[in-house]
Amino acid sequence: MSNAQAEFLKLLLEHGILIDMGVDGLYGRSGVFEDVVERFSILVAAFGKEDKAEVVRFPPGMSRSQFESSGYMKSFPQLAGTIHSFSGNDREHAALLAKMEAKEDWTEDQKATDVVLTPAACYPLYPAIAKRGALPEQGGLFDLYSYCFRHEPAIDPARMQMFRMREYVRIGTQEQVVSFRQTWLERGEALMKSLGVQVALDVANDPFFGRAGKLLSNNQRDQKLKFELLIPITSEENPTACLSFNYHQDHFGTKWGLCTCDNAVAHTACVGFGMERVALALFKHHGMDVRSWPRAVRKVLWGE
Ligand code: AMP
Ligand code: ZN
Repeated sequence: MSNAQAEFLKLLLEHGILIDMGVDGLYGRSGVFEDVVERFSILVAAFGKEDKAEVVRFPPGMSRSQFESSGYMKSFPQLAGTIHSFSGNDREHAALLAKMEAKEDWTEDQKATDVVLTPAACYPLYPAIAKRGALPEQGGLFDLYSYCFRHEPAIDPARMQMFRMREYVRIGTQEQVVSFRQTWLERGEALMKSLGVQVALDVANDPFFGRAGKLLSNNQRDQKLKFELLIPITSEENPTACLSFNYHQDHFGTKWGLCTCDNAVAHTACVGFGMERVALALFKHHGMDVRSWPRAVRKVLWGE
């Protein structure tokens, strides 16, 4: 934790932009914050409009069995959030209440439900699209938007446990997918520059778990499978990843049986926008009062 992170969080809470909920990384949002998020979402849609993506919305929970098949627990067990619930009888209920009363651990009797919290907006999409059968010749392009959960409690307001991710996901041939990612690398940079923030594009890797994960991280970096658009929020030296551009090669295609029109394994890529991070970057760069943000930025977001 850096001082700058704690100070920025304090400022956001003092201005009522974020609302303390008693857990690090879990915040309420003010109307002003939500308005910025909404306007940014509209701006993203404007940049992507010509591609005519299919809009699909999933709730912030996904099927546990699909989550198990996705391999997420192999790569990021430390981040996953599963939903557990009480399923006992009257006697067990009384025992649970007694444990709560005695401030003992009452959660150990909770049973896993069929739902887990969505870790990234695109996770529920692949099995849903695989069920449709082979893709049409032009492949698929999807517009997603979901709250996501990652168990990474932090003081840094830009590292939340529950946050929104807007994504475009491309499924198709290698050429279609690589060209999609290239287009969005350029668009993403132009989009963020239009908002008057300082941006830098860099090769990145996901936080794969453990010693085996180190190899996956190195491979991801070496092959330039992940890029991030970084914007300073609480540090100039360590700017925050606000947009991600991921090329999964045929990883999800093979996992879910996604096929192109000529029955080859489909490739996939996604561009993810961290909605809270972008909003926080804007508050950091332009100040706590949106009415005094630069005119050019207000014009891009609110058209005034
Ligand atoms: P990733 O799947 O890790 O590339 O995440 C996609 C985007 O979600 C990132 O570029 C971030 O902008 C955003 N994001 C990831 N983790 C968090 C978090 N803990 N809090 C807020 N935003 C996040
Ligand atoms: Zn994704």
